[in-house]
Amino acid sequence: MISDRLVEVGYEVRPIFGVERTVIGAVGGQEHQKVDTIDQLRAYDFVDDVMIITKPYKFVAKEYKKSKSVIDVRGLKIGGDEVVMMAGPCTVESEDQLMTSAKAVAEAGATVLRGGAYKPSTSPYSFHGMGLPALELLAEAGRRYNLRVVTEVMDPRKVEEVSEYSDILQIGARNMQNYDLLREVGQSRKAVMLKRGLSAKYEEWLLAAEYIASGGNESIMLCERGIRSFETYTRNVLDVTAVPVIHNLSHLPVVVDPSHGCGRRDLVATMSNASVAAGADALIIEVHPNPDHAIKDGAQSITFDQFREMMPPLRKIAEAIGRSVAAIPSAV
Ligand code: PEP
Ligand code: MN
Repeated sequence: MISDRLVEVGYEVRPIFGVERTVIGAVGGQEHQKVDTIDQLRAYDFVDDVMIITKPYKFVAKEYKKSKSVIDVRGLKIGGDEVVMMAGPCTVESEDQLMTSAKAVAEAGATVLRGGAYKPSTSPYSFHGMGLPALELLAEAGRRYNLRVVTEVMDPRKVEEVSEYSDILQIGARNMQNYDLLREVGQSRKAVMLKRGLSAKYEEWLLAAEYIASGGNESIMLCERGIRSFETYTRNVLDVTAVPVIHNLSHLPVVVDPSHGCGRRDLVATMSNASVAAGADALIIEVHPNPDHAIKDGAQSITFDQFREMMPPLRKIAEAIGRSVAAIPSAV
């Protein structure tokens, strides 16, 4: 009834049905009618409150929801009390490379396997991924080790294909403002991990997420992966500040990628600790059986041993802030 009235005056509505209350998100509408409409809505005795969200993004704004979003990835919860570990190679290179990586990261405590099948690259002459065979290997590794799978989709025409093989669609930093791609994953019902653009402001990043949410897909996590600066010692500057800032502005979970954020293997464990301490809901880390021979991103990829060794301190930090590291859910 409220929704009908809102539609009548030109709003697009999106209800969220809770146990005790229903929140109706409304965007659009005529500016000059806003005040009157709000007065009318407030007059209903079953309307608890009418809130104006003045931010340019609405569906991803904190005000839109009472609590943080928890994304359910086949039983694995991202954004809840538990910190989720995602790990695996930058790029899928071979069956052996992926399977050994999946086994090692699962045994050390990861619950999501990462691996690129379609790789964005600054140079057109670099390796661009194995494509479909890599997707098949990722799905197989996921089944074998009961891991969820995250992999990048670069092309709106490939969203369906990538969705068939993976649990989370990664939108890479270089594609954060690829609006056709954002709209396409907005039509999908797969979880999306939206990486921050190389030089994107928080507002631009949240507006990119708004493209996805406004299409009806609210299973979005935002991934901080370092931003451009004048510093050259590190590949990027990992903006750990993004974690509390995004949590202040949005209900979406925040993932941190210290691998791309620093570009250096020796900083991954420390910056992972810092990210968890800052409240990151998940980490995504590049792990390779032989980083010095990795086709891509070897300098920032850690070994199986290093991944195993970084976990105990990380668990302690999670505990210190009242969280724990998520284990693989038994039910699929
Ligand atoms: C990656 O995850 O391997 C990747 C290419 O990341 P980004 O888009 O953050 O550069
Ligand atoms: Mn990479």
